[in-house]
Amino acid sequence: GATVLYGNVIAEEIRSKVANEVRKMKASVGEVPGLAVILVGERRDSQSYVRNKSIACEEVGMKFELTELPEHCTTEQVCNAVSYFNKNPSFHGVLVQLPLPKHLDEVRIFDEVCLEKDVDGFHPLNIGSLALCGKEPLFIPCTPKGCIELLLRYNVELMGKHVVVIGRSNIVGVPLSLILQRHHATVSILHAYSSNPEIIAREADILIVAAGMPNLVRSSWLKPGVAVLDVGTNPIKDPSEEYGYRLIGDVCFEEATSIASAISPVPGGVGPMTVAMLLLNTLESAKRTFNIT
Ligand code: NAD
Repeated sequence: GATVLYGNVIAEEIRSKVANEVRKMKASVGEVPGLAVILVGERRDSQSYVRNKSIACEEVGMKFELTELPEHCTTEQVCNAVSYFNKNPSFHGVLVQLPLPKHLDEVRIFDEVCLEKDVDGFHPLNIGSLALCGKEPLFIPCTPKGCIELLLRYNVELMGKHVVVIGRSNIVGVPLSLILQRHHATVSILHAYSSNPEIIAREADILIVAAGMPNLVRSSWLKPGVAVLDVGTNPIKDPSEEYGYRLIGDVCFEEATSIASAISPVPGGVGPMTVAMLLLNTLESAKRTFNIT
């Protein structure tokens, strides 16, 4: 079977390094990094992602604060909440949990987050910097950064390889394709309007799937020996689970494991890497504030 890419194990290593640096920061400047999260509405999955972020912060000794706004709030109200944390020196990272209700202007909200605290890396100037050769963004979005880190840690080479990314969202597919090109990969992006996705996917040396479609990728989509990252997290009703649901990916794991050389599981793959990267970005931001190298 394929090598399983255990994001949870690597994320744990990263978290303990972050905890160590937080302790050192506390000892040297008497402050710890702080993360502020704004959550709109009552989505169960978003609530559990935010809970994970809060637990992760607490574990490494970072400050965490959550502001909750009602489903029917205005773009203006979300921007005001962002602006409050932009100005508050106790917080080095500010993010708005996605997805937002459809009536809100997502791009306007990305724009409001101050560049120096944009630990999700969704500010247009951060995304733009990622696209410019020779320009370093202040922050790289957490899920794409976690995907790259996971591949590098398992010695999956990127240079000259054909990477097929399924999905072109602002938060996963697009930034991921930009980072992959920085690593000299040949990148193809598939999306909901692509013709013959299965045939294109089958040419991938590395296949990264972020479509949000349970079991979209079956064995016929895979070239033997391909390395697969499954970013999808699809809640499936399961009364035997604590919250009444469990998560499955976009890739049929059982089929993939006999064809691929490597595959990340769901849960325990990309998800924990995302949270670890958020801690790293928040730490980096605080270090920049306190001039720590
Ligand atoms: P999104 O809905 O914004 O974008 C989905 C993308 O997939 C779109 O670009 C769409 O064109 C494409 N797509 C949809 N169906 C397709 C199909 N049949 N064939 C090819 N392309 C198709 O979603 P998102 O925010 O990018 O998230 C994608 C998935 O990743 C979701 O399951 C989400 O929950 C998960 N996710 C996981 C993490 C994590 O940390 N593990 C982080 C972010 C998102």
